[in-house]
Amino acid sequence: MCPHATGDSLPADKSEMVAIPLNGESSTSTTNGTNGAPAYGVNKQGIKKRGTWRAPDAHLNREVKNPYAARASDLLSNLSNFNIIESTLREGEQFANAFFDTKTKIAIAKALDAFGVEYIELTSPCASEQSRADCEAICKLGLKAKILTHIRCHMDDARVAVETGVDGVDVVIGTSSYLREFSHGKDMAYITKTAIEVIEFVKSKGIEVRFSSEDSFRSDLVDLLSIYQTVDKIGVNRVGIADTVGCANPRQVYDLVRTLRGVVSCDIEVHLHNDTGMAIANAYTALEAGATHIDTSVLGIGERVGITPLGGLVACLYAANPEYVKSKYNLPMLREIENLVAEAVEVNIPFMNPITGYCAFTHKAGIHAKAILNNPSTYEILKPEDFGLTRYVSIGHRLTGWNAVKSRVEQLGLQLTDAEVKDVTAKIKELADVRTQSMDDVDTLLRVYHSGIQSGELAVGQKEALDRLLRRHKAEAQGRAASPSVERSD
Ligand SMILES: [Zn+2]
Repeated sequence: MCPHATGDSLPADKSEMVAIPLNGESSTSTTNGTNGAPAYGVNKQGIKKRGTWRAPDAHLNREVKNPYAARASDLLSNLSNFNIIESTLREGEQFANAFFDTKTKIAIAKALDAFGVEYIELTSPCASEQSRADCEAICKLGLKAKILTHIRCHMDDARVAVETGVDGVDVVIGTSSYLREFSHGKDMAYITKTAIEVIEFVKSKGIEVRFSSEDSFRSDLVDLLSIYQTVDKIGVNRVGIADTVGCANPRQVYDLVRTLRGVVSCDIEVHLHNDTGMAIANAYTALEAGATHIDTSVLGIGERVGITPLGGLVACLYAANPEYVKSKYNLPMLREIENLVAEAVEVNIPFMNPITGYCAFTHKAGIHAKAILNNPSTYEILKPEDFGLTRYVSIGHRLTGWNAVKSRVEQLGLQLTDAEVKDVTAKIKELADVRTQSMDDVDTLLRVYHSGIQSGELAVGQKEALDRLLRRHKAEAQGRAASPSVERSD
C-alpha cells in the first residue's frame, strides 16, 4: 500500500451544490481580450508591485475559432491523427499498489476496448507463468484493440511472446550510458545486432513490432538516431522514445521527436514518465512534433509516479480537437474506467484530476457562476455533458453571487424578484462568513425567505424580521424533532 494511497479523501458531496442544467450551450468562440490588469505597476497606496505585463495588442482581439487547435503551420502535427497505446496492464502493473488478478485484467482490458483505445499493452509473458496465461486469455477475447506485449530485446523473450497470440510485440532496450554500464552491460554494436535479429524474427511471424530505446533523453543522440535508422530500414513498424526517468521538458521532447521524424519513415511512439509533472505536456508536444502513438495508463499509474494519464491526455487533446476525440473514444466511459482501476489499486481519484476530479466542473466564485449560467464556455473548455458529467455551481459560501442564488431559487420553483434574491444573497454571505452553508441550509433559508415574502411578514431589507422568521422556523423544526409523530400499525 502506498503511503499516499488514502491521502486524498473525498470531499463534501455534490448535494451541497446546485446542478446546472446542461442546456443553453453556445458554440460561439470567445475572443481574447484584456485581462483587466491595471495599466500601471503602482497601486493606490503608491506601492510598486512585482510582476510585468504587456499592453494588450489589438490583433489579439480578433475572432479565433479554437485557440487550442493545431496551427495551420504545424505540418508535422498529429494532434488530430494519433493512436493511444494503453499500458495500464503493463506499465500500470509496475505501480507500487498494483496487483491485477486475471478477472481484473480482463475487466480492465474490456473497459479500455469499449472506451476505444487503439492498443492495449500487456506485461511480458516471460515475467511469470500467470502473466503468460493472462496474455493468452486477453488475446482470445476478440477485442477491437490490438493487443501488444512488452519484452526485453532478447530472442528468448521474443520466441515466447509471438506464441501468445498478440497482434504486436514492443521491444525495449536501455541505450543510455547509465543503463549500458549499470544495467545490461552491452555496447551499441551488440544492441544493434540483437535488435535486428529480434525484429526480423517478430516480423517473420506476421505481427507488428516496435523497437524502443529506454532512457532515450540521456542516450547519445548519434547512437540513438543510428539504431533507429537501422531498424527503420529493416521494416520495424514503430520506433519508441522513452523518457524513462521522467526528466524531459516539452522543448526537449519536441526537438528529439522532430529530429527523429526527419530520420525514419515508420511510426513514432513516445513513453513519458511523470516525475516532474510534465507527462501530459510532453505527450502533447510529441504529437505536435510528429509522434503517432502515445503510451498512457489509467490515472497515470506506473513506476514511481507513473506515466501520461489516459484521462488527462484525452482532456488535453479534446481541447485541441473535440470532434476528433469524440469520434474516436466513448468519453462517458472514462469515469467508469478510472473507478475500476482506482478500486483495483486502492487509490482515490485525485481531486484535481482532469475531467473526473470531484471539482472538475464545479464553479464557486460569484462572477464565474454568473458567466457560466449565461454561457458555460466562459469558464469551461471541456463540456461536462460530452463526458457524461454535470456541472455544479456551489452557492453556500461567502464568494457566492445573486445570479447563482437566483438559479437555485428557480430550481426550487420559488417566486422572488431580483431585489429579493439580492437581499437573501446578502443573508447567505453573512451566514457563510461564520461557516460554509450546506445546500440544505441554503434551501431552508430560501424557503423561509420566500414564505415570509408571501405572507407579508417580510420585505426587502428587513433583517430583523428575517432573523425572527429563521428563529421561528428553527424552533418549529426542533419541536418536530423532539416529538415525532408515531405511526400506528394495528
Ligand atoms: Zn515506463
